[in-house]
Amino acid sequence: MSVTRMLIGGEWRDAGSGRTEDITSPYDGSVVGTVPRAGQDDVEAAITAAEAGAVTWRRTPAHERMRILLRAARSVDERAAEIAKTITAENGKAIAEATVEAGRAGETIRLAAFEGAQLYGDSLPLDAHPGTGLDKVGFTVRQPCGIVLAITPFNYPALLVLHKVAPALAAGNAVVLKPAETTPLTALALAACFIGAGLPGNVLSVLTGHGSEIGDQLVSDPRIRKISFTGSTQVGDRIARHAGVKKISLELGASCAVIIMPDADLGLASDAVAAGGYANAGQVCNSVQRIITHHAVNADFLDALLPKVKAIRTGDPSSHDTTMGTLITAGEAARVQQSISAAAAGGAKVLVGGEREGSVVAPAVVADVDPSSPFSRQELFGPAVAVSTAKNWEGAIAQANDTSYGLSAGVFTSDVAGAVRAIREIDCGNVHINWTPLWRADLMPYGGLKASGIGKEGPRRAVSEMTEEKTIVLHGRPW
Ligand code: NAD
Repeated sequence: MSVTRMLIGGEWRDAGSGRTEDITSPYDGSVVGTVPRAGQDDVEAAITAAEAGAVTWRRTPAHERMRILLRAARSVDERAAEIAKTITAENGKAIAEATVEAGRAGETIRLAAFEGAQLYGDSLPLDAHPGTGLDKVGFTVRQPCGIVLAITPFNYPALLVLHKVAPALAAGNAVVLKPAETTPLTALALAACFIGAGLPGNVLSVLTGHGSEIGDQLVSDPRIRKISFTGSTQVGDRIARHAGVKKISLELGASCAVIIMPDADLGLASDAVAAGGYANAGQVCNSVQRIITHHAVNADFLDALLPKVKAIRTGDPSSHDTTMGTLITAGEAARVQQSISAAAAGGAKVLVGGEREGSVVAPAVVADVDPSSPFSRQELFGPAVAVSTAKNWEGAIAQANDTSYGLSAGVFTSDVAGAVRAIREIDCGNVHINWTPLWRADLMPYGGLKASGIGKEGPRRAVSEMTEEKTIVLHGRPW
């Protein structure tokens, strides 16, 4: 298999060291591609190129940047089927899900392209400052940060790359992208669309390699002005410690809860949980991990949920008959299986699923889970939901908040007053009423509270966080 080279300063290159790495299918272990394994020299080359790219790109008018991004979006649309196959091959995501992800990619670029053309500032009422007359004019302008370092996880290898690269480019920044080591092929395919659309050479680099080898060097480099990271809280914490004085956005881990009250539509709630707990084999930051049912409807909810979970079909992710693919590695699948076994050993009941075959874990429902156990509080990132009960709104909201994370939550109820209370009191970045947390429109502000992160994504917010605000004062008189 030939090496898919990485992108540095507009050139498709091998690693300076000549090292390469095979990318394998999580499903059957077959080699689906080979990429360079970047080292320190490659990091230096990418950042040096980005310095030049940042100068070129900030001098490129917004309408031209927009035109290039729109061409890239069209190219991504045209290659969507091919990109979906690449996602399935390297990530193990069922092809039906990969097709949806690839289908959203072009639109994500278009949303960012538009926002990059909306860099408005404010006019400042300086005459309201005591002692100042009408002889001064003040306003703000936004300008690109310079070089944006984008570091992305494996679970949405197209969308999470584009939620960083597209707004960063739209806002006029040069970008150094470090995709997850398990899913670099999708990132390289997307980068080719930007280059094909006419992006100047030095503006985008993609370094394939391991965060544990090149992460600290990238993150601590003073030429990087903004870091946009999505991944685990553990790595996010390390990045925050190494970054120094820079702008940082961190989209991190989660243990998302769904509350189901007695006046909920249990058919709707069970449909939504059967989708939101198992999409991408539960490897989604806003996956349903915890279900907090009112004790009066716990049994009825489980009766409605179990047949829907049993109907999920695992198997070859490239088959259209498969509705749930693999975990990212057999090691991750073993970790998830062990977590389910540990919950059972602690007194929880595994009602269905939890068995492992290679990198596939059968979708599981685990009831009677102790809300203070690691199975509930820590991130699982696998295809299982943990069910526990509460007596009332007070108890349900307290349980939902009983984790260090705070990304997203869902509430099923027809009680408007209760819903309003939940909206106000659940400490999460996103709250969904009558749906699960696993829902995202690419345009909406998206990000977590507490250990789930800092800052927001979504093209409008990302463009704002990837630009600097400058205050300008024109002095008609010098005092
Ligand atoms: P990860 O933290 O292991 O890796 C993410 C990226 O960080 C990879 O590109 C990796 O190479 C890089 N990295 C590793 N060590 C580094 C270092 N020292 N310095 C710099 N970069 C380094 O995460 P993962 O396993 O790929 O993804 C799963 C995690 O991502 C889960 O915790 C999940 O909740 C989180 N996630 C969060 C969101 C969100 O929006 N909040 C979205 C998707 C995934």
